[in-house]
Amino acid sequence: MGRVITKKPELLAPGGTLEKLKMAIHYGADACYIGGQAYGLRSRAGNFDFTEMKEAVDYAHEHGAKIYLASNMVTHEGDEKGAGEFYRTVRDLGIDAVLVSDPALMEIAVTEAPGLAIHLSTQASATNYQTLNFWADEGLERVVLAREVSMEEIRYMRERVNVEIEAFVHGAMCISYSGRCVLSNHMANRDANRGGCAQSCRWKYGLFDMDLPGLKHTIGEEHGVEEAFSMSAVDLSMLGHIPDLVEAGIDSLKVEGRMKSIHYVSTVCNVYRKAIDAYCADPDHYELKKEWVDELWKVAQRELATGFFYGTPTEEEQLFGPRRKIPQYAFVGQVIAYDEASGIATIQQRNNFGCGDEVEFYGPGMRHFTQTVEELKDENGLAIDRAPHAMMICQMPVKEPVQVYDMIRKRK
Ligand code: SF4
Repeated sequence: MGRVITKKPELLAPGGTLEKLKMAIHYGADACYIGGQAYGLRSRAGNFDFTEMKEAVDYAHEHGAKIYLASNMVTHEGDEKGAGEFYRTVRDLGIDAVLVSDPALMEIAVTEAPGLAIHLSTQASATNYQTLNFWADEGLERVVLAREVSMEEIRYMRERVNVEIEAFVHGAMCISYSGRCVLSNHMANRDANRGGCAQSCRWKYGLFDMDLPGLKHTIGEEHGVEEAFSMSAVDLSMLGHIPDLVEAGIDSLKVEGRMKSIHYVSTVCNVYRKAIDAYCADPDHYELKKEWVDELWKVAQRELATGFFYGTPTEEEQLFGPRRKIPQYAFVGQVIAYDEASGIATIQQRNNFGCGDEVEFYGPGMRHFTQTVEELKDENGLAIDRAPHAMMICQMPVKEPVQVYDMIRKRK
């Protein structure tokens, strides 16, 4: 008899906005993390007010998914005012857990909103089993590990702790230690640990050598390096290592990116859902499919690597110089209706497309097909050559059945 996987890990996706959250769940996420209007770390993500939070919770619970609320800022004196009432409100709205890193906020959540589950945020840099046990003893249900731990360390911790483990498996990495970076504070007067990171590590810098007073030259000039210096880390992708993640006993596999588009979130969830399900259904015959990898690359924004899972990243996992070209697709529309009898799809435009373009339709379960747009009509049924206006409604015949929430992309 083949091996049986007794615990399938949760696929946890970013819910940057209500639309992104619904798309993530539709494309396979078991849970989403969101930001509220206070105490979070993404001051520019579409943070949820209480009405939106309620809608998110109701939608998720109707679909068997969970919602976690990021509340992981480093609080300075006075920042914590009102937190007790905030936590009681989100608990009563049905939020499944809050992600916290600051002990002051944790204390407030525990004492003033009893019953609200707490997860330790990655901002707290948990990297060893004693730390996990410490937080478990404090009553936390889950610890989000620092991105800097290895697979071997995770296995070691798993055997020694009785608390849920969550780990980032896909998305952007900090060049600095998670939660310990003040680069943005210095460069842009924006506090990364209070929600204001300006991504200063990804800026382009001039790098100079001043070996003799007043004698300054740009490093790299003599080697013909023309591009400015950047410290940008390449993105994390563990798609190629799903068996290791499951076997290590990680409870929740987390995708980074509350600021990313619905095109990105739907694609990443679709691929990881497929791979996790395939491995857990039949681990003995599992193999990584090329089509899954190709699909991920369609939304990749940088090179992909395995971060710290298999050792400290080398210079190959950093973008120190010119950005390498990666295949890129543009998200051009979303199916909002489909008439089976006529084979006509009604589409909401998201980027300019039109007759003659080769477009790709995709949907949950990795359904996809490509076709050339041969005929296009506006919402009044008048023939048009292109759909140039943002969010305009148009119609086109499709060569295979599609469903509402299917997405359309084309090569840039
Ligand atoms: S500046 Fe870069 S390394 Fe620092 S917190 Fe922001 S993204 Fe992370």
